[in-house]
Amino acid sequence: MTRTDCIFCRIIAGELPATVVHQDEICVAFRDINPQAPVHILVVPREHFASLDEATPERRETLGHLLVTAARVANAEGLTEKRGGYRTVINTGPGVGQSVFHLHLHVLGGRPMSWPPG
Ligand code: C5P
Repeated sequence: MTRTDCIFCRIIAGELPATVVHQDEICVAFRDINPQAPVHILVVPREHFASLDEATPERRETLGHLLVTAARVANAEGLTEKRGGYRTVINTGPGVGQSVFHLHLHVLGGRPMSWPPG
């Protein structure tokens, strides 16, 4: 169900602009408006739920699909393990940097990255 107060629901509904790189019946992937790497894509489920804390067995297919899509999108951007790799991130809660409360998976790549993240 689209939430009018959710920026990602509005992007998914086509009410707000975004550069969409992939969409299917379960998720939409679009370029982050404030990229933190040469490639920075968000993979977002069409279903609205706030964070990974709301993962349930019923959402298993959706959650798995986000990972499969992340790999496909990364590969389509030329990011493979052999070509520098890529990082996937799910921030859960404001304390670790979540700012949009509709679950999303970041796909970042195209530059060297260190570990641990800040
Ligand atoms: O994990 P977090 O919640 O902080 O990530 C939200 C991301 O959504 C940010 O990287 C931000 O740049 C992105 N964003 C976007 N388009 C918007 C609003 C936020 O790509 N209209």
